Amino acid sequence: MCRHLGYLGPAVPIAGLLDGPTGLLRQTWAPADMRGGGTVNVDGFGVGWYTDTGGEPVRYRRAVPMWTDQAFTQVAAATRSHAVLAAARSATIGMPVVDTACAPFTDGPWLFSHNGRVTGWPDSLAGLAGTLSPVELMTLDAPTDSAVLWALVRRELRAGAAMADALAGVVTAVAEAAPDSRLNLMITDGASIAATTWWHSLSALTGPDFVVLASEPWAQDPLWTPIGDRCLVTATLTPTPAVRVRALGSADK
Ligand code: GLN
Repeated sequence: MCRHLGYLGPAVPIAGLLDGPTGLLRQTWAPADMRGGGTVNVDGFGVGWYTDTGGEPVRYRRAVPMWTDQAFTQVAAATRSHAVLAAARSATIGMPVVDTACAPFTDGPWLFSHNGRVTGWPDSLAGLAGTLSPVELMTLDAPTDSAVLWALVRRELRAGAAMADALAGVVTAVAEAAPDSRLNLMITDGASIAATTWWHSLSALTGPDFVVLASEPWAQDPLWTPIGDRCLVTATLTPTPAVRVRALGSADK
């Protein structure tokens, strides 16, 4: 089951967010908390980041293990960003290993990732996918559960929904259509991060000037806080770095 990570804070080299002793790079071959199948995350990776000049994020993704892409290693060491979403993929059985199946998925200001799988895909998702427009269906990134989830979330965002509301609505609908799915979603617009836990791992780290959400902590550090299951998480920097967690389905307070 893939791994993902979102960061907001001072601009730092992207490599520094991936290279920790148990960081996302190491999680590609030695993840500690895989659930629901899979032992490594070698079917691809992707990183999206925002630049100081503003505008839409840059997104790089490839269907190779992260450590094999030497050009990316150099780019990650030389590129600084204040807002990053990164993912390593373990393809669910039956889904293709192609660049376009790798998170983050992007549209306008958003970067999106799914860690998990939709049980009974594709049949279980047919009803929800059928509510997408022909154009939305024809422009799916890839024939995968994650790409359909992204199309459903993207439709809500384009209609003006807040990121957390879009994630919560899609997780609730998909969990109903496909019980036992694993639906850890993460999205950012570069200013805040929203994420869900639905039968998979997620931890948070809040520092004096940064916040991180990650499938697994990048170091054995007691400051990392595991997030409970079936939660909606929002991470923001202003007025001070904060991670807010509430039960999925409960009202915002
Ligand atoms: N099911 C998704 C895919 O195949 C996500 C994979 C995962 O989380 N292991 O791309």
